[in-house]
Amino acid sequence: MELTKQQFTEDLRKSLTQNFAKTTKNANDQEIYMSLARVIKGYYSKIWLEDNEYKDKTAAKQTYYFSIEFMPGRMLKSNLLNLGLLQTVRDALADIGSDLDKISENEQDMAIGNGGLGRLASCFMDSLASTGLPGNGNGIRYKYGLFKQRIIDGYQVELPDVWLTNGNPWEVRRSDKAVEVKFGGNVWMEEIGHGRYTPHFENQETILAVPYDTAMVGYENKTVNNLCLWRAELPEGSEVIHPSLDYMQDVDTLSAVLYPDDSNYSGRLLRLKQEYFFVSAGLQRIVNHYLNLGLPLPRIPEHVAVHINDTHPALCIPEFMRILIDEHEMSWESAWQLTVKTMSYTNHTIMAEAMEKWSEEMMKSLLPRIYQIIVEIDNRFAKEYIPKVGPSLVHNTRIVKDGKVHMANLSIIGSHSTNGVAKIHSDLLKDVVLHDFYIIFPERFNNKTNGIAERRWIQIANEELSGLIDETIGKSWRKDLNDLTVLKAFQDNDEILNKFEAVKFHDKERLAKLILEKNGITVNPNAIFDVQVKRLHAYKRQLLNLLHIMKLYFDIKDGNAENMVPRVFIFGAKAAPSYQYAKAIIKAINEVANMINSDTDVEDKLKVVFLENYNVSLAEQIIPSANVGEQISLASTEASGTSNMKFMLNGALTIGTLDGANIEIKDAVGDENIFIFGMNKDDVLEYYTNGRYQSTEIYNSNPILKRILNAFVDGSIPNIENEGREIFDSMTVYNDEYFVLRDFDSYVETQKRLEDYYRDRHAWNKSCLLNIANAARFSSDRTVREYAEQIWQINPR
Ligand SMILES: *Cc1c(COP(=O)(O)O)cnc(C)c1O
Repeated sequence: MELTKQQFTEDLRKSLTQNFAKTTKNANDQEIYMSLARVIKGYYSKIWLEDNEYKDKTAAKQTYYFSIEFMPGRMLKSNLLNLGLLQTVRDALADIGSDLDKISENEQDMAIGNGGLGRLASCFMDSLASTGLPGNGNGIRYKYGLFKQRIIDGYQVELPDVWLTNGNPWEVRRSDKAVEVKFGGNVWMEEIGHGRYTPHFENQETILAVPYDTAMVGYENKTVNNLCLWRAELPEGSEVIHPSLDYMQDVDTLSAVLYPDDSNYSGRLLRLKQEYFFVSAGLQRIVNHYLNLGLPLPRIPEHVAVHINDTHPALCIPEFMRILIDEHEMSWESAWQLTVKTMSYTNHTIMAEAMEKWSEEMMKSLLPRIYQIIVEIDNRFAKEYIPKVGPSLVHNTRIVKDGKVHMANLSIIGSHSTNGVAKIHSDLLKDVVLHDFYIIFPERFNNKTNGIAERRWIQIANEELSGLIDETIGKSWRKDLNDLTVLKAFQDNDEILNKFEAVKFHDKERLAKLILEKNGITVNPNAIFDVQVKRLHAYKRQLLNLLHIMKLYFDIKDGNAENMVPRVFIFGAKAAPSYQYAKAIIKAINEVANMINSDTDVEDKLKVVFLENYNVSLAEQIIPSANVGEQISLASTEASGTSNMKFMLNGALTIGTLDGANIEIKDAVGDENIFIFGMNKDDVLEYYTNGRYQSTEIYNSNPILKRILNAFVDGSIPNIENEGREIFDSMTVYNDEYFVLRDFDSYVETQKRLEDYYRDRHAWNKSCLLNIANAARFSSDRTVREYAEQIWQINPR
């Protein structure tokens, strides 16, 4: 939008006076932040209103992306960038002696997600709006976000994330759009003639769901979509006259906390309650809005697409059925057709421990009517498909069996599209994990490789690099990332390559400053910055990285590292509070870090840094400064990964396995510009089928590994008596579930190759440039366009 510095400064002054009775001279940074946010909200709200009117008028089809997690991070700069005001506001603030970066730090990260899944949902929100697509989010407004991580004596300690204390200036509470969600009680069916039944309920618990809307502002366009997050409240003036304490507490806890497990299924009643809560509320609002437009219910799939992000919102399927049948007297057959046409589903993992399966008993007592509908869906599925495909395929794919409701099965059967999130992952779904479904419904399966919102991950996170790209190829890439390919023309231009190297060096200096402030460790910006940031999980193999660090440390101690290029290893990772093994790894990383960083023999050849509380804002500070991104999951375990894409876009080279999107990154940049090591997925599957892996054989025959692993239990690494034993045993007694030892030699060799390559400044810088130049296919703009065209059938404005 068009706005002068003077106009903006005037608006800010007014806002400061109106909200805080302050001036630009005596307001503190928090007050400036709040006033600024309100001014910005005022600017985009006009566009928001206009786009809502446009959407209602045209009744064009919209997508609703149901996700139990979102991780937008801070909204301030994102909104400024997308409104085209970032520079104006930065300059205006500088004029009044203020600094946008400092002001921005007063915004609490909106961290209502765990990791990749929630971040993907937020990248999609940004991309949907920025590509002009009508796509909205639907989720839960958790009172507490993902825990804050502190490291104390090397251990992870979890503190509550009280992000709403100062209020959230971006949200709009819409009490008039509140709906009721009902749990428990009894249900019986009354026959009403013509073979139709109507349900009757007694003793249900009613909870009020109140929506909080946040504008998702498109990049320099007219689109503003909505992120709707639901809060649980006591229904006012309802039949509940004397609410019991238990009931009041129930209501309070429902939208209080985000489950802090990543890639792990919890099976807790409260979680199931949360799932139904935001699903039911979201669908009710969608149907109410749709009917208010005066459109006929049987045509709803022409106007509404509902997306189920992983299985957490899978209850969309029976809940949509319930609304159509019970509330709008539709026949089962018609309702089922509409449901399948409206719903689509993304699978995010093939790991058994992440597969949601609810006990029938729990489902029946918490959601009696929904349970009935699921059983009916399951019975009808069996009846229809046994004659078509035989009993054994149907048995393998049934929704209700062994006393459990299988949510992935429900999601596939009740929707018209099931997609994986990278080619390898979608192939594994078709060929292995969901093969039986693939035989029954081949046309439903497809791939949509993940992507990242380029605006946040380069334009905001790396303003200096963005400026250099402008200078080199012009600004059009900011609107269309495909234009980055123009950079290829400069791959042998040393003058340009040196400029990119200089920007990287500045980014490293900035991170070095942060590391000194936060951890008191001095790191050398000339060293290789080698970064692994992601949730801490055994399958992601942070341990493999740590074993390599120990190898380098022993090389130094043995005097075998004269020519080593100095390295700084940087970690950021939260572990689920109940995931003891992951927490043991965090402790081990920190103790190895202490040992190495305080060893005077090491000098600045090697440093290890664990930055606490990894979240979106910290990611924005760390990733631009990386030379190397670690993507070292066991092949076939990481569905896609997205931090690999963030590193690439910021000119870091990947060291990684042939897993997830690493494979497609390799295809995009070519073998010379990525460092691939280790087993591929077929090697891994072969081990699974022949069962011949013996980690102790490697331990006994590889003296380097033996020495490293022994250091975990013989006191060489101090202060990890219990954790060291746990890790040692996992590698030996418990046969190294994720093949860390099997891939170790290949990893070490490849790290050596990488180090040698780094010495050749021209070659390295050229590879970095080519990574940036080829990053466009990993933009989530590309991803959401594919969803829009191939799954949702929605069009850009
Ligand atoms: C991108 C991102 C992730 C996902 O990282 P992966 O390496 O793909 O697992 C997790 N957390 C945050 C804060 C992120 O920004």
